[in-house]
Amino acid sequence: MKPKVLILVDWPKDVFMSLNDVADVGFGPFESREELLEEMRDVEALVAGVTPVDRELLENAPKLKVVARFGVGYDNVDVEECTKRGIYVTYTPNALSDTVADLTMGLIICLARKILQADRYVRTEWAKPGSLKFPLGVDLSGKVLGIIGLGRIGSSVARKAKAFNMRITYYDVIRRENLERNLGVSYADFNSLLKTSDFVTLHVPLMDATRGLIGERELKAMKETSYLVNTSRGPIIDEDALYKALIEGWIAGAALDVFTEEPLPLDSPLIKLNNVILTPHIGSAAAETRRRMAEMDVKNIRSVLMGKVPPNPIPEQKGLVFKR
Ligand code: NAD
Repeated sequence: MKPKVLILVDWPKDVFMSLNDVADVGFGPFESREELLEEMRDVEALVAGVTPVDRELLENAPKLKVVARFGVGYDNVDVEECTKRGIYVTYTPNALSDTVADLTMGLIICLARKILQADRYVRTEWAKPGSLKFPLGVDLSGKVLGIIGLGRIGSSVARKAKAFNMRITYYDVIRRENLERNLGVSYADFNSLLKTSDFVTLHVPLMDATRGLIGERELKAMKETSYLVNTSRGPIIDEDALYKALIEGWIAGAALDVFTEEPLPLDSPLIKLNNVILTPHIGSAAAETRRRMAEMDVKNIRSVLMGKVPPNPIPEQKGLVFKR
């Protein structure tokens, strides 16, 4: 009997199917949580998308050897519990950094030049007699971009923003002097970055220390003309405070790819606002990137099923060897 691999993402199937020589490959989704838990009984390797890999799921998966995250954020995986049970957790670092950075730059440009409002204006207003003039945007050249989290994605954003002649500052819990020299970016403490940036973009992982990192105090510290971009994780921003900031004009606008609750409920007050751009968690959603991510997951799973250490364990499990 081949070991069972369960894939909880729906694409690219052909890449995941390449595990067929060593495993019996099955795909979700399931009608209910109960059905998923029932299925987990025999699963040895799991490709995890947005489904929480929590203690309950792990308790129902006695044979599980590896959780391969389809992405770099693993805040929905109970890492401590996996480690206790000798289950590897792997992820896909670097495979998607440029792709998320592309989206971030796209959102920054849309905010600066009001591209989405411009599209709506052409469809509904432009040709009407006496229509209002379309408002001016702002240049990116010379503006200060404040990057919070200068890791893989944050530094890719810095490289791209350089080409737009932006002045780049960053805040990170780790001072990155090499990158400061190589990318021409300068370090600022958290409060100064908020006060001086024209655009603030978030690239930190979601964990206790970053949950609610941007709340009322931080939004009030930002300039009234500034914009906030979030392509990291929703709960890093206090969404109620952001809503207040957007209607009361503490900042000029925001662009969000990620939300506290996903999908964003249709009755979310954010949906009615014109000064916010909303995208449906598409940071890594490019065909080539998703294939690269799947190929990494496949390599990690293949290694574990062959009794080896996977090539891309999450940092918390670096150097650990599980014998099961
Ligand atoms: P990374 O680990 O390379 O970079 C994270 C950086 O944040 C590191 O430099 C780290 O030192 C810094 N950091 C950690 N805690 C901090 C804090 N409290 N304050 C300031 N800096 C802090 O990760 P990455 O590959 O750049 O990915 C970043 C995040 O982007 C992921 O954790 C994930 O949640 C998110 N992401 C979103 C999408 C999407 O579809 N929108 C796609 C991929 C990743």
